[in-house]
Order: sequence, then structure tokens, then C-alpha cells
Amino acid sequence: MKKTVRQNILDVKQYIPGKPIEEVQRELKLEKVVKLASNENCLGPSPKAVAAIKKSIGRINRYPDASSFYLRKKLAKSLNVSEDSLIFGNGSDEIIGMAIRTFVDPGDEVIIAKPTFLMYEIAAQIQGAKIKFVPLSKDLKYDLVKMKEAVTDSTKIIFIANPDNPTGTYVTKRELDIFFEGLPERIMVFLDEAYFEFAAYDRKDYPRGTNYLNRPGVILARTFSKIYGLAGLRIGYGIASPKVISYMERTREPFNTNLLAQVAAEAAIDDKVFLNKTLTHVAREKTFLYSAFKKMGLEYADSATNFIVVDTKRDCKAIFDALLKKGVIVRDMKAWGFDTYIRVTIGTRAEDQKFVRALKGII
Ligand code: PMP
Repeated sequence: MKKTVRQNILDVKQYIPGKPIEEVQRELKLEKVVKLASNENCLGPSPKAVAAIKKSIGRINRYPDASSFYLRKKLAKSLNVSEDSLIFGNGSDEIIGMAIRTFVDPGDEVIIAKPTFLMYEIAAQIQGAKIKFVPLSKDLKYDLVKMKEAVTDSTKIIFIANPDNPTGTYVTKRELDIFFEGLPERIMVFLDEAYFEFAAYDRKDYPRGTNYLNRPGVILARTFSKIYGLAGLRIGYGIASPKVISYMERTREPFNTNLLAQVAAEAAIDDKVFLNKTLTHVAREKTFLYSAFKKMGLEYADSATNFIVVDTKRDCKAIFDALLKKGVIVRDMKAWGFDTYIRVTIGTRAEDQKFVRALKGII
């Protein structure tokens, strides 16, 4: 069978999912386990989204609307973009895949920071692209100068997670303006804004991707998984010029976003109370965790998101295992090449306290 599989599929680094929380609980005989590993919203889903799902549950014998008709109208209005500049995905992960499938031929170059969100690399490998990695700077930020220098005649697309995962850092408006200056227009730039709302909340120099849409090759991706609390439903979206979107639409499966996800997302857009509650909670908890890290003498990256990477100065896999035994699931950064770092998602105050107590006990 191995001979029949495409070579680049054999090369793909498969995404390794964590175990279900209930399984961890059962295996380790723990009464309570808190999951601070996947940058989800710890306050739950948007209540308006939950109400919309309850109202629509009896309709799931029908296929979803293949064009996300009502969600598209609502979102276009709220973002002040035209309806044909939007595309919906089964999570924003799928937008990444569609962008690569639409624009990248096998052998084309794709520029990706190292480390960053792993899906860019996986999608590019599946397509058979040539990946050029550009290391983050010492302060764990995207190095846009080096990324632009890496451009060659074969470069098709550059990925920029802003803010970034796993570091939580962001590139400023000035840095992004300089990056775009003189960058050939044929180069596609994928601005992944999965954590947009968190950065836009309290960072004055955080750029709005929507202000760069006049460039022909810019694709933005955002999601309902994070601040809206709908990670389990899988819905995200891309914003680009109608021309770019029309090509990407050719690669989209017609019923890729499900009926409940569409109604939930539509309702969540209006849930300003929930969004504000999440933003203030995350900001408060970051202050709480930063102060705990300082007391433990640990360095962390100042985060513009709902998670923090922290240098434990010890083998991160060992820290991960020890935390797990105490009922706290975080993400160790080994797969990203940060051998002493863990990434912790902001939880409720009780969850964050449990994490801090456990970490203090270990180090
Ligand atoms: N981009 C980044 C930077 C992320 O961290 C994530 C989620 N971990 C995604 C995209 C994908 O999110 P989703 O598919 O849930 O929309």
C-alpha cells in the first residue's frame, strides 16, 4: 500500500489529537480534570447561539443551506464587506486548505514562520508545495522582514497568523504596512485572524486585516471557534476580493458548514454581551496568570490572545505529564520545537487557580 500512496502524503506530519477529557479522568482516576489546551472559550458557548440551536434542532433532517445565505447576509453587514467577499468553512482550518488547493501547485513555494500554527505546514505538504520556513525573532514574534526576503519567483503564498498561535504575539500595523510595501502583487498573503477580537480589544497598534483587502491577493480568515465559543460546531470564514472568493468556492464542498453551525454563528454575531464578558474575563485572567508566573520566576510571552506560552525552564513533556496527573491538561510545545515551553489557555478563575497551584507544586 505504501507504494501507492503519494510521496508527499507519506511526508505529512500528522496532527496528533489529545485524548478526550473523560478518558483522561477515567485513566488517571481523577475526580475533576480541567482542559486548558485548545484555546477554547472557558465561559462556554454564546447563550444566543445555544438558543438558536435549540430552535433549529428539529430541522436537521434537511441539508444545510449550501451558500450560508442568512449567515452571509448578517456577517457581510456586520463587517461592512460585500456578500460575495465571504466564504465559509468547517472551521477556519478549512479556509487554509481551500486557499492552498486553489492557488498552490505542487512544487510552488509557500512561506511559513517556524514555529507557528501547524495547519499551514500540513495543508502545504498535502498539496506537495515546497515549504520555506522563516524562524521567529528572539522575542517570539513573526519576522516579517525575513519573510519578505524569503520571497522568490516561485513563491505563491505567505502565511501570517496575527496574532500567532502558539506564541500569542502579533505584528503591528507599521510592521505589516512595511511588509506589504514593494511586495509583488502576484503573491498571495493569508492573514489568519483566528484571535482577532482579543487583539483588537486592547492593542492599539494591532492592524485590521480588512484594511488590506484592496490588495488583490489578500485572504483573511476568522473563526467562531474562539471568542464566540463555538469550537465544537466547526465554523469559520474567509474574506477576500470577490474574484479570489469565486475561485476558492470551486474547491469547497457544498454542504461543508452544518445547519446548526450556521444558525449558531448567525445568532452569536449579535451576542455583544457575551463577547464583552469574554474579553474582560480574558484580560483579567491574563493579569492573574502573569503575576503568578512572575512569582515563580518564569518568563512568558505577552499575549494578545486567550492563551499564554510560558517557559518552564524544564522539559515541557515532563511538566505536561505532571500537570496531567494533577488534573490539568495544557499543551506542551515539543511539537513546535520549544522544548521547555507549555501553552495554557485562559480558564475560569477556579481553573486558572488549579493550574497555578499544580504548576507551583511541580517546579
Ligand atoms: N488559526 C489559528 C492561528 C488557530 O490557532 C486555530 C485554532 N487552533 C485555527 C486557525 C483554526 O480554528 P478553527 O478551525 O476552529 O476555526
